[in-house]
Amino acid sequence: MTVLDYSKGNILLIDDTPDNLRLLTSVLSEQGYKVRSVINGEMGLMGATAAPPDLILLDINMPDMDGYEVCQRLKMMEETADIPVIFVSAVDETLDKVKAFGVGGVDYITKPFQVKEVLARVENHLNLRNLQQRLRSLNDELEERVRQRTAELEGLNQTLQAEITERKQIEARLQHLAWHDPLTNLPNRSLLMRRLQQVLEPDADGNSTLFALMFLDCDRFKTVNDSLGHLVGDQLLVAIAQRIQAQLTPQQTLMRLGGDEFTILVKPVHQTGEATQLAEQLQHSMMVPFKIHGREIFMSISIGIVFSAPHYHHPQDVLRDADTAMYQAKAEGKACYRIFTQSMHAHVVQRLHLETDLRRAIEHQEFSVQYQPIVAFSDRRIVSFEALIRWQHPEQGFISPADFIPIAEETGLIIPLGEWILRQACQQFQAWKERLQQQATHSSDLVDQAFPSVSVNLSVRQFTQPNLMERIDCILAETGLDSQLLKLEITESAIMEYSTSAMEILQQLKARQIQLSIDDFGTGYSSLSYLHRFPVDILKIDRSFVNRIGKQGENLEIIRAIVALAKSLNISIVAEGVETDYHQTYLHSLGCEFGQGYLFHKPLSVPQIEKLMFHD
Ligand code: C2E
Ligand code: CA
Ligand code: CA
Repeated sequence: MTVLDYSKGNILLIDDTPDNLRLLTSVLSEQGYKVRSVINGEMGLMGATAAPPDLILLDINMPDMDGYEVCQRLKMMEETADIPVIFVSAVDETLDKVKAFGVGGVDYITKPFQVKEVLARVENHLNLRNLQQRLRSLNDELEERVRQRTAELEGLNQTLQAEITERKQIEARLQHLAWHDPLTNLPNRSLLMRRLQQVLEPDADGNSTLFALMFLDCDRFKTVNDSLGHLVGDQLLVAIAQRIQAQLTPQQTLMRLGGDEFTILVKPVHQTGEATQLAEQLQHSMMVPFKIHGREIFMSISIGIVFSAPHYHHPQDVLRDADTAMYQAKAEGKACYRIFTQSMHAHVVQRLHLETDLRRAIEHQEFSVQYQPIVAFSDRRIVSFEALIRWQHPEQGFISPADFIPIAEETGLIIPLGEWILRQACQQFQAWKERLQQQATHSSDLVDQAFPSVSVNLSVRQFTQPNLMERIDCILAETGLDSQLLKLEITESAIMEYSTSAMEILQQLKARQIQLSIDDFGTGYSSLSYLHRFPVDILKIDRSFVNRIGKQGENLEIIRAIVALAKSLNISIVAEGVETDYHQTYLHSLGCEFGQGYLFHKPLSVPQIEKLMFHD
């Protein structure tokens, strides 16, 4: 058996003449074609559809169905339509070539066969068919690739679109961030400035918009941050913003400047009442406590209001004046509103001058310290002195510490200034003590009396200064003063507002036996209940309470309560501003033992005291 090379192609022979079939079969088989043969058209169609060959040799003259018809039918069926058909005809038969090509034949061969010709034509057409098929599959492949590429491109396009959308979103987000505060999502300072710029510009008709700018600042917000932490502080700010926002109309825009400061731009505004009513309403709404983490927090706000005016050209001027008015509201007791006036501005300018002068005064040593005796009511013996700073201004003369200490605090100048006072007082007292000891060796009458201590005022700024203890230790070491002779006076608010750090400092003071006085007691928080938690040695009852003594209709319950509480906590009491005998008698009768005031001594200069102590 010969192994046939079927790869050369399958050929179907359709011919009713057995001789032809035999001859062609043998010739083609020999060449390696796989040959099937059938003897009529019907069988030919069946064979072709059942297993489509690569080529058909089709006899034209057959009894039942001639070759033309077979070819026509083959061409009509999908599975056989593409099979090349070569017609076979005898010489004597009439071959209608036009018809043969018309029904779809590709070629024809006439009998008797020239073997070479048959093979050549068969091979040609098989090659052609192969090429066609290859072309078709290449086409298909190409189409498939195009389809794939198109799909890929579509995918890419979609990703690209998504990227574009995302980028746009990021851009929008960045835009938003640039103009908004991330915590409250309110417009920020930049946006406020832009809006102000817009309202300051006159419209097409040359008219300017009437507006009001409200500057809101939370009162004592720092206390919340310091005692409850920044997280609670942040949540409180959000809650405050929400509460305010809920009360505003579209003509009123709330913005956050930063920290605990907000502004509201009201535009247009037709009457001042529109802004002041809003201020009142907002302040009223603050009376309800905020609930943060189940904790109730009370928060009030101080508000400054400025109205549009022709002289405003720059947003920062409007903001500055609103700020000034807010500042005024704070100074007048917080939780209220003030409308900006030009005199406020003058005041600010004056303060500014004072600030410059203050810096110069430190360099030029325009300060001095006076000491006011604190006496025991029982025998008016001087037990202590309070150091009080004095400023002799070269042009303006004497300036009260009540006027410049707040500025020194604000500007931070209080730190070097306070240190100077402390050093000055320690030095002075050490010098006096040494002088007294020298004298004591000569006369014995001074030895028995305890040497008076010196009480130095410490501002809040100094109290919260990180290296406070270090500075105090340093000054004590430098001057050689016994720490037991030093007392420090701080206000209630310093302790209350910085309660955590205050405790630590107070304990460090205690360790050095430096005594601590609470100054101006009763004017701040009056939180008597806090008192027992802190190691306090002395309470100084504020002058304003002592003042009331002896006046008609004054309620003195509070003084009585303070004295009783202090006694129960073993805290000594110094009454400030004792001006009359009656003050002294009354206070003494309550159990208050010490006093300071014009009744005994005014603050005294160094020579005055030396006269008193050493009879100079
Ligand atoms: P303060 O600590 O309450 O000081 C007492 C003030 O009351 C002093 O005013 C004193 O002169 C005044 N005074 C004393 N006795 C009487 C009196 O009988 N009647 C009246 N009406 N007043 C009396 P001064 O010296 O003007 O000081 C004012 C405030 O300035 C002080 O109040 C204190 O808070 C601050 N201060 C003064 N010196 C210093 C200082 O060296 N450092 C700091 N941080 N603050 C100071
Ligand atoms: Ca004081
Ligand atoms: Ca005082």
